[in-house]
Amino acid sequence: AVPLVVAFSTSYSARKGILVKNRLALETLKDVHAVVFDKTGTLTEGKFGITNVLSSKLSEDELLRLTASIEKVSEHVIARAIVETANSKGLKLEEVEDFKAVPGKGVVGKVKGYHIAVGTTLLMKDLEVKEDEELLKRIKELESEGKTVVLIAIDGMLSGVIALADRIREASYLAVGELKRMGKKVIMITGDSEETARYVARELGIDEFFARVLPHEKVQKVKDLQSTSMKVAMVGDGINDAPALIQADVGIAIGSGTHIAIESADIILVRNDPQDVVRLIKLSEVSTRKIL
Ligand code: ADP
Ligand code: MG
Repeated sequence: AVPLVVAFSTSYSARKGILVKNRLALETLKDVHAVVFDKTGTLTEGKFGITNVLSSKLSEDELLRLTASIEKVSEHVIARAIVETANSKGLKLEEVEDFKAVPGKGVVGKVKGYHIAVGTTLLMKDLEVKEDEELLKRIKELESEGKTVVLIAIDGMLSGVIALADRIREASYLAVGELKRMGKKVIMITGDSEETARYVARELGIDEFFARVLPHEKVQKVKDLQSTSMKVAMVGDGINDAPALIQADVGIAIGSGTHIAIESADIILVRNDPQDVVRLIKLSEVSTRKIL
């Protein structure tokens, strides 16, 4: 991507809710071989609702209360869903000490003297948390239903899980189908688990996906694709997508995405519609033809 070119928008695309900041990127778009989509907030709506709370020791409400107490300090969309649910149940949240966010993995902190960790299986491995076979089995089941599962450890023991569901955008189905028909390689990339990613990819008809990708690894995936002499478009919404949006030949941000993603992109989809990627490629073909 060409960084910091003067903001530019064609009247055609602006009317259609597409903001082209970098004209050159729009011209490049017709030549891309692969379109890489972030999952959460891009192919999905990124609005999570809690579907299951499983607790092995405490009551489910107490587990939710302690988890929400830590998550209220986090800005992650998962954190916000957990805090909202706790609030709507009238649960009283506690003070947190020694809070730490671990990018792409979760959060840790101390609540009421308990050491609590909330996040992925990777986070639990890093902290050498004692496993619970029954919970691990349930986690696999929930993930294979496409749910995002957050693990909770209390004082070094896996003690519960919270499962959340997100909705795949209707337009994602159409966008993926059309891009494939246009001969583009469609790839999904996510920090979420292998099982959850597989469900969403299968649902959308995406053949290639990378799961459990840590924030700093997304940009490397784009570089890897480019090193096979492919031109790559990246579509994302998150803080962790920003470096990949800059690295890609064409960086496209979802309008409702984070400030830094929008800043880093060449093109912004104001309507949050993945199908606008298809419209943009067609626009790219037409406007180049006019120039020739
Ligand atoms: P994505 O690439 O899907 O947007 P992130 O890189 O932001 O995901 O996070 C990857 C994973 O890390 C999430 O799916 C979640 O399991 C976990 N995670 C990150 N932050 C938090 C948090 N505050 N609370 C619980 N889990 C978290
Ligand atoms: Mg995202």
